[in-house]
Amino acid sequence: MDDNQLSFPWGNDNSAREETTGRAVVTRRQRGYQIYLSQGVRKASRRKEWSVTSQSVDGAYYTVRYVLGRFVCNCADFADRREPCKHIFAVEYFEGHEDNLPDVPQNGLPRKRDWETYNATKPWVESCAAELLLQLASVIEDPDPTRGHPPAPISELLFASVMRVYVRESGRDFCGDVLQRWVTTQRVSRRYHFNTLSAFMRRPAVGAILRELIRESSSPLANLGQRTIAVDSSGFTTSTSSTWYDVRFHRTRKRDYIKLHIAVDTATHIVTDAVVTESDGADTAQLPGLIRGSMKRVQLCDVVADKAYTGKPNYDVLTKLGLVPLIPPKDGMTGRGNRFMEQMFHAFRAEDPDVLSRYHQRSNVETVMFMIKQQFGDRVAARSKHGQINELLAKVLCHNLQCLVMATAELGIMPRFFRGDAGSAA
Ligand SMILES: [Zn+2]
Repeated sequence: MDDNQLSFPWGNDNSAREETTGRAVVTRRQRGYQIYLSQGVRKASRRKEWSVTSQSVDGAYYTVRYVLGRFVCNCADFADRREPCKHIFAVEYFEGHEDNLPDVPQNGLPRKRDWETYNATKPWVESCAAELLLQLASVIEDPDPTRGHPPAPISELLFASVMRVYVRESGRDFCGDVLQRWVTTQRVSRRYHFNTLSAFMRRPAVGAILRELIRESSSPLANLGQRTIAVDSSGFTTSTSSTWYDVRFHRTRKRDYIKLHIAVDTATHIVTDAVVTESDGADTAQLPGLIRGSMKRVQLCDVVADKAYTGKPNYDVLTKLGLVPLIPPKDGMTGRGNRFMEQMFHAFRAEDPDVLSRYHQRSNVETVMFMIKQQFGDRVAARSKHGQINELLAKVLCHNLQCLVMATAELGIMPRFFRGDAGSAA
């Protein structure tokens, strides 16, 4: 469709761009909502392209595309303002990215909207995260039902359980209003009872699925270049240790928390692998597993970690894998026994500026740990051991979903999952 063939009743003056009907000013958002309701949006056969019916010219339509993380339209309004036009709003309603009803005009003045802020708003990020999670979960296969009626699909139970962690609602509230939204949009088949979700999250096998999805969700971002992976751990509080018990037996807080160990891509903050252990789980023993887990999806280069992870066993494993460990020595360590470790310890002691600047990438893993705790809480609500492990892994997966949504907006990346040799996550 050629833009020039179409006439625009609102002329070229920006201030007059909001169409006026009677005394009320109708915003682009409301127009978009009208177009969507009158079924004026059709998805083109190509991905990320939509045809939107023109309101002013019969039979005419505009093309909206999703390019480099934002919607563009070929209408004159968009060409002029480079801001969302009514056709883009119509597509957003159509795709379910926009849950809000149109703004109610107040005093006849349309609200101005900043596109960047708008992108960053919670409902948009949340519904994008939900769509990505559906994509990830869709590969999970159900075991063949041998008898009786088929159980609830694992992909749906997983979707609902992880989104519950994402929105940080109590079980009752989540299974009421929040879950209903995804039933309405046919993302899940029914409103699950919160006991069903809690029982699902207590299953030990769910931890393996969550870990696989964490790894897979990191692959679209973490493979963008040569990677530095940083490893660290942090405690999360649990609710299973009762207060009177603490007081009477003078228990330390040591057993009140569980420990999350993560490997993080320092450039994008996405978590490439995660493990949960008891509070006394030794950090150093987790490093080889986290790195091997990350390498299933991501090309690694440098591995940075603090001196809690140092020592010959880890240096041996990492150098054999062809990686460069940047892990400082503990006091009194010589590095004897692994030639590379010896050189690296020397470089740390000599404060080699190259080694130190690469080592300082490590602060990114602390940032990510902070982000996870701030966004999804620093305590776990589940009371059973596997419930706690799985809840914590779900927090990590939620963090990754958020990283992916932001990357979609900022870098124009379209995440695709399980395209390599990965196969099924189940
Ligand atoms: Zn347009």
